[in-house]
Amino acid sequence: MTDPKSRLAEKVGTFRPSLTLELKRLAAARVARGLPVYDFGLGETKGDLAPHIAEAGARAFRDGETMYGDPAGLSALRDAALRWLGLERQYAIENVVITSGAKQGLFNIFLALCNPGDTVLFDAAPWVSYQPMAIAADARVALVQPSAGAGNFLKVTAEDLRRELRNHPDARLFLLNSPVNPTSQLYSTEELEALLSVCVERQVYFVLDRLYWRLVFDGAVFPEPRVDEETRPWLIQVDGLSKNFRRTGGIRLGWTVAPTDVARAMVNLQSHYTSGPAIPTQHAALAGITASYDVELRDDLERKRNLLLDATCNIPQIKVWPTPAAFYSFWDVRACLGKTAPDGRRIDSSAGLATYLLDSAGVITAPGSAFMQEGYLRNSFATPDEHIVEGCRAVGQALATLR
Ligand code: PLP
Repeated sequence: MTDPKSRLAEKVGTFRPSLTLELKRLAAARVARGLPVYDFGLGETKGDLAPHIAEAGARAFRDGETMYGDPAGLSALRDAALRWLGLERQYAIENVVITSGAKQGLFNIFLALCNPGDTVLFDAAPWVSYQPMAIAADARVALVQPSAGAGNFLKVTAEDLRRELRNHPDARLFLLNSPVNPTSQLYSTEELEALLSVCVERQVYFVLDRLYWRLVFDGAVFPEPRVDEETRPWLIQVDGLSKNFRRTGGIRLGWTVAPTDVARAMVNLQSHYTSGPAIPTQHAALAGITASYDVELRDDLERKRNLLLDATCNIPQIKVWPTPAAFYSFWDVRACLGKTAPDGRRIDSSAGLATYLLDSAGVITAPGSAFMQEGYLRNSFATPDEHIVEGCRAVGQALATLR
């Protein structure tokens, strides 16, 4: 009999299913068995879809807006994406590609820019799908590690990037996510500028995934990268509908703003493998980003952030990082590693701790190892208040029994 491994491409064998989607499955399975679940797992906004978004999608179906469209996306949406990002004076619609979620924008970028074996650089705690997508595009991946230790909350500096570029002269692009999933850190204008300048100087693309950019707390605003003649050839920005609105992850709509040649290559690619995103969902997105932005979601998440901080401050086994943006609380749980649970199991990794919290307390968290950072848990607080309060109580009780 043929070795089953040989039936698949080698690179596919290295992928595990998306951890975050697996968490959604675990939560649903526990609910179906009538077990309690406190869900800090999946990074997805809850609540009701805004009626104007729902109606625009429904109207497009009713009106038969269901024929093939321009693979780059609806012109009106490309124009609206620039206005939504405040980039309408710096770019034209030929620089905008509408994609099936931010994910497809990122995958298109790797496909369009990387020759086999080129290196793609990520920051120290990359979001779970970056690496599989880069590898699927036949690129190699390397992480830029922060030199200054944990005090900088895993943010990388221009010096860190320079060092990694020296190690990888074949690097094609540096991908930075800000606000960062999983750490929820926000790069300042100065920090962004320093990293962007290194990329421009080295003629390496600087890809900014800004998917959570409207969710910035404490009265701050999202720091924008500099867009001018010097940076435009090397700067690519990825965004989408999934995080800054309620219940929009499944609409699968995103947009990328890129130099003209890159945007054209991305459109060419997706013209062959998706023909562009579904037209009714593009109409839904158009309605979403052209209406005046409702800051209610941001304010609600800021309130939940505070609720979670209060709920965790009395759990001595964890250290909670500040959360200036997005909706993730990154917990340092290194003090729990090496301990033994009442059922005799030894907790020796963040994945082991996440499994223990799920089994013993019904708490769903994402282990730091999924983001290349062992010793941490990522907790999404885009979850009902009672999950935050009761879930943290359950975490505190479960951790108190570790010896
Ligand atoms: N980038 C980051 C940092 C994310 O957290 C996610 C989704 O969780 C994505 C990209 C993919 O977004 P989308 O659902 O719009 O494809």
